[in-house]
Amino acid sequence: MKYISTRNKDKIVSSSEAIIQGLAEDGGLYTPQTVDQKVDLSSALKMNYLELAQYILSLFLSDFSHEQIQQCVQNAYQNSFENNEIAPLCKYHDGWLMELWHGPTSAFKDVALTLLPHLLTAAYQNQNENDLISILTATSGDTGKAAINGFANVENTAITVLYPEIGVSDIQKRQMQTSLGKNVEVIAVKGNFDDCQRIVKEAMKDTAVLAACKHIKLSSANSINIGRLVPQIVYYFDSYAKLVKSGDIQLGDVINFVVPSGNFGNILAGYLAKQLGLPVKKLVCASNSNNVLTEFIRTGSYNANRAFIPTISPSMDILVSSNLERLLFLLSNHNDVLINQYMSSLKEDGHYTISDDLRHALQESFTAYDCSEEECKKVICDTFHKEHILIDPHTAVAVHACHAYKQESNDTAPCIVLSTASAYKFAKDVYAVLTGKSCDDEFEAMYALHDYTSVTIPKNLACLKDMDVRFTKAVEKEDALTAIAKRLEDLQHDYN
Ligand SMILES: *Cc1c(COP(=O)(O)O)cnc(C)c1O
Repeated sequence: MKYISTRNKDKIVSSSEAIIQGLAEDGGLYTPQTVDQKVDLSSALKMNYLELAQYILSLFLSDFSHEQIQQCVQNAYQNSFENNEIAPLCKYHDGWLMELWHGPTSAFKDVALTLLPHLLTAAYQNQNENDLISILTATSGDTGKAAINGFANVENTAITVLYPEIGVSDIQKRQMQTSLGKNVEVIAVKGNFDDCQRIVKEAMKDTAVLAACKHIKLSSANSINIGRLVPQIVYYFDSYAKLVKSGDIQLGDVINFVVPSGNFGNILAGYLAKQLGLPVKKLVCASNSNNVLTEFIRTGSYNANRAFIPTISPSMDILVSSNLERLLFLLSNHNDVLINQYMSSLKEDGHYTISDDLRHALQESFTAYDCSEEECKKVICDTFHKEHILIDPHTAVAVHACHAYKQESNDTAPCIVLSTASAYKFAKDVYAVLTGKSCDDEFEAMYALHDYTSVTIPKNLACLKDMDVRFTKAVEKEDALTAIAKRLEDLQHDYN
């Protein structure tokens, strides 16, 4: 399988090249040239998670050897998830929660980011490269720590994370600030996530940054990297297989997935799963009050000209959703001219509207619901008090969307809601929502939430309090590119 840029379909690269580069030079996102293979569902049923991951990765990473893929998957997943379960299902009254947060940093980003460093290292072997790879990553809260955890002390790599000073939860911030690893740098940017993501994309083309890149290759661990997207396809198949094995569905039955969305990476992986033959009826896109995606999927108009609203589900506080570009490219049969038009209109005017044909194609697979802060809080309370299941605010947004979809559509197909983070990452807010009491200290809130719910605190979060804060650098938006160039110069000095 080859990859092409969404802004120039004649730019064709191998999977190794796409993973190393992250973003295409023309600013486009690498996208599979053809998704015409089908996953054999009855074989998939017999596989455990690691085998399934190898099977699906091998379809997408055709220039990797069988042994390389096997090694990558084992190194990533063996012993890094609680009870060695990557995506356990939990039954609740409206369907199932697919719990993707049992990894080393307690968010779903771990599923792809424990694997990406291994994929990158293998891609490097395939390309005979030996420059230092410098990973530059923007985070809305969860990607940063998961990426640092994956890349810390990985040879031939260095990682720099930009996070928005306002927006991330206290625990998320503390997770990043206390990171270990000699190749790690963390910088707070005085802006929001959209600023951070834009800065990363600009850095890839900035002359001062590129000048500092002698013997250094810049790449990204954001979901603009295809190496992030492909591992996320696996759990859609895994959860389907689990429902067949438990007898809840028959092989071939259609089901729905409800996905709390921000950058549209997680749900796009669901769409790729559908392309590969997974019987998916609808992919329900769930948004918080920053409901750009809901509006887009319903009307065909993308409008980022609106106030950015900080919410208690900060990892979805995003107005410019990168992976949508890939979906539109796929749905328009690789119409790169059209994608260029949409994206330059988005950049210049903050909005674009797709054609009716494209909107109909979009609505065939996707539907969307948003969730207010009040609704989100109510869902957290109801789910705990009625079912004794503790969910985080991102998951709550999706649980709400699932309910709204069922009510509006009368669809009776089973629904799986993707549960994307541990509630303890948002302890202060969740504690306040459940008890009506506020708690100023993030760790006190964590313990109080534990006392109140008796739900175990993930180890990586419980031990945060005793770790030293290593990173406190904060820069103005305008100074971020200079800070990145400086970081690269330091790396050059250290490594060359
Ligand atoms: C990143 C994140 C999301 C959004 O995922 P996208 O792939 O960006 O759509 C949802 N929930 C949590 C907890 C996240 O960390």
